[in-house]
Amino acid sequence: MRRSSSLTSPSAVVITVGNELLSGRTVDTNAAWLGRFLSDRLGIEVDLRLTVGDEQNAIATAVAQGMARAEIVIVTGGLGPTPDDLTREAVARALNRPLLLDQGLLDQLTGRFRSAGRPLPDANRRIAMVPWGAQLLSNPLGTAPGLLMDEQGIQVVLLPGVPREMNAIASEAAAEALRRVFAGRLPDIRSRELHTTGVPESALAGLIGDAFPSGFGGVRLAFLPEETGVDLRLTVTGGTASVGRLDEAEAQLREVVKPWLFEAPETGDLAEAVLTALRTRGLRLAAAESCTGGLASKRLTDVAGASDVFLGGVVAYSDDAKEALLGVERKIIDSCGAVSEEVAEQMARGALMRFGAEVAVSLTGIAGPGGATPDKPVGTVCFAAVHGDQAVVRRSVFPGNRDGVRQRSAQAALALILHLVDGRLTPPLD
Ligand code: AMP
Ligand code: MG
Repeated sequence: MRRSSSLTSPSAVVITVGNELLSGRTVDTNAAWLGRFLSDRLGIEVDLRLTVGDEQNAIATAVAQGMARAEIVIVTGGLGPTPDDLTREAVARALNRPLLLDQGLLDQLTGRFRSAGRPLPDANRRIAMVPWGAQLLSNPLGTAPGLLMDEQGIQVVLLPGVPREMNAIASEAAAEALRRVFAGRLPDIRSRELHTTGVPESALAGLIGDAFPSGFGGVRLAFLPEETGVDLRLTVTGGTASVGRLDEAEAQLREVVKPWLFEAPETGDLAEAVLTALRTRGLRLAAAESCTGGLASKRLTDVAGASDVFLGGVVAYSDDAKEALLGVERKIIDSCGAVSEEVAEQMARGALMRFGAEVAVSLTGIAGPGGATPDKPVGTVCFAAVHGDQAVVRRSVFPGNRDGVRQRSAQAALALILHLVDGRLTPPLD
């Protein structure tokens, strides 16, 4: 069954286990994450994905199928202590290995529970049952370690189902083990990611293509579009020797996409860039939101440490709330409409005063599907950002469904803050 161990990279089969995945109650994010991680970080392509229920035969069959196809078989899920966690038994059977008690692991588990003031539950002892010869892959975030078995040159990797534990083990212990096993066969990948917002992927591709018609000299460029922006990923293989080429490509690319670029090294989210820009200037922020129901505020508070910059937000959905909470004038609502530049600016001014902030942002719009008027179609959103006497006010018409309009609205509001305080992002484009 051994795959040809030529100099080409090994491929992988990913098997995800769980009834909740088959029924669609849980979205299989593990398979997606692994596909991307293996390809981007290790240069290993996933060849086949299988999803099976919590059933020993199904798991064993999938593992056998995976081993017939690839040099790496990764299984996630079913490693926990509950009776429906059957992966270790199924894999032991598929590989014809006995399950043995790992005393070291059992001691470790007992110690962990003891320091939490509890005895080890009987059910958790199962976690210490390990297929013969398996290497433990340390789990920094939970009790069940990953397991790695070398079966005649095929690497069978078992990981817990909980996504954050799976990610932690895969990116540390499992990646290290695979790099060691396949030393010399995995490309040494270096990469950089740039974040853009407010410009469609097609426009970016056009600009970059015009500026660099023959590419970036061996450095690959990938477009990673999302509702709120497009990330650009530069990748080069060849290790340290090629870092210079990567630096050069990054500098060239930055120049072309500069008007839409933002820096968010921790989270990749524009909210982080906004908080950093305000923090370095000693400015504090307030928000007033209507059609997004607090989404922009949520994004800001998703970033750890936001509290020194973000004071708070008001969700003013009804006309009355806009008037009562933010001091928007009724006559302006009546004459201009609740979705208008005038109301947006008064909402921002109201939030600025209420919170005693230096900077405030607001948005009011029609997320749809109803609510459109002849001059304000679904997707019409008005924004304002104010800083002392300065104000920038915008109107956009976003495409997409209710959720899409709301996502884009929150993003555009965040972009407008950055535009106001450091002129960095061009005004949000439709
Ligand atoms: P398990 O290790 O099978 O007990 O899984 C623990 C929890 O992790 C499950 O209840 C799911 O919520 C989650 N989970 C398991 N597999 C996946 C997967 N492939 N994608 C996303 N979440 C998962
Ligand atoms: Mg499960």
